[in-house]
Amino acid sequence: STAATPPATAGRILIIGATGFMGQFMTKASLGLGRSTYLLLRPGSLTPSKAAIVKSFQDRGAKVIHGVINDKELMVKILKDYEIDVVISLVGGGNLMDQRTLVDAIKSVKTVKRFLPSEFGHDTDRANPVEPGLTMYKEKRLIRRLIEESGIPYTYICCNSIASWPYHDNCHPSKVPPPVDQFLIYGDGTVKAYFVDGNDIGKFTMKAIDDIRTRNKNVHFRPPSNCYSINELASLWEKIIGRKIPRATVSAEDLLAAAAENCIPRSIVAAFTHDIFINGCQINFSIEGPNDIEIGTLYPDEKFRCLEECFKDFVPMTHDMNVHVGTTEINNNRKSLVEVAPITAM
Ligand code: NDP
Repeated sequence: STAATPPATAGRILIIGATGFMGQFMTKASLGLGRSTYLLLRPGSLTPSKAAIVKSFQDRGAKVIHGVINDKELMVKILKDYEIDVVISLVGGGNLMDQRTLVDAIKSVKTVKRFLPSEFGHDTDRANPVEPGLTMYKEKRLIRRLIEESGIPYTYICCNSIASWPYHDNCHPSKVPPPVDQFLIYGDGTVKAYFVDGNDIGKFTMKAIDDIRTRNKNVHFRPPSNCYSINELASLWEKIIGRKIPRATVSAEDLLAAAAENCIPRSIVAAFTHDIFINGCQINFSIEGPNDIEIGTLYPDEKFRCLEECFKDFVPMTHDMNVHVGTTEINNNRKSLVEVAPITAM
């Protein structure tokens, strides 16, 4: 007979936070591979835009389950009834501690083969942002320790920055094009970071979930073609739009002051911006330890989308804003959409 070896894609995946910013990339990647994809949605009325997102996922085969992760009994039932093999959590910064109950539920069912907690940024055991960023990392670290103590197989995705202009006051910068009237350069602008296309974060994460080599590892995303300083990012964008844009400096002290304002979530982003572009938190450590692995080395034939391609995606957005690329003509009414507040006014 042709008795089948189950394909690598047999495992059922539960995605928590599919309507969120990072969750959408993961869900698209899972559905794109034709994987059995379950979405846990919080009960209650979805906003029209979130409802449209859910509908588009359902049209592509996603199955919706209603529930919250901080209900242990319910989560145990869901994990058992739907025979979930992989759990990917993408809850936002304000809900990280809800994952304590989820870890408990995963531990008690014993059938989950891999758990990816809501990480998807820096290596939170190594990065050291000032407050209020540090509190968020302390929560992510606490969840890591709970997972490790419980013996659940895990993978921590350290995918670094999303490919977009790194505004220091915007949690979801890839929804906004790079500046069209002024660049704010952090410090001397020479510290490098990694900028990864959101769809590539999804694509490579989907590879990692079935891979024995990523079990109980920190998986770092360091594609050499996507490593840029902010000075280089500015030049790249100028090259794409065909004109020069003036630069102003935001000093380390300015970023620390924005963090110290403790205005959530903006100050958290300022703290991370300081950690990335002043401290060099994405590049100031080696990933040769026994618990570390670089994703590109696992899949040498899979390419990352280069940053120039990613930044070209933003050009139509600047057209929508009546910005005439190639000239200095900018519609002043729309200007505020992309302009960050002058740091001195904060
Ligand atoms: P969002 O706030 O955009 O989305 C959070 C999602 O989690 C929503 O779908 C929300 O549902 C859901 N959720 C929250 N709490 C619960 C719960 N108790 N039960 C079920 N669902 C819940 O989050 P982000 O995408 O911004 O953040 C996700 C992760 O990615 C974080 O760890 C964050 O730090 C990281 N991140 C990394 C970035 C990078 O550049 N590397 C950029 C942005 C985020 P609902 O729709 O009901 O609100």
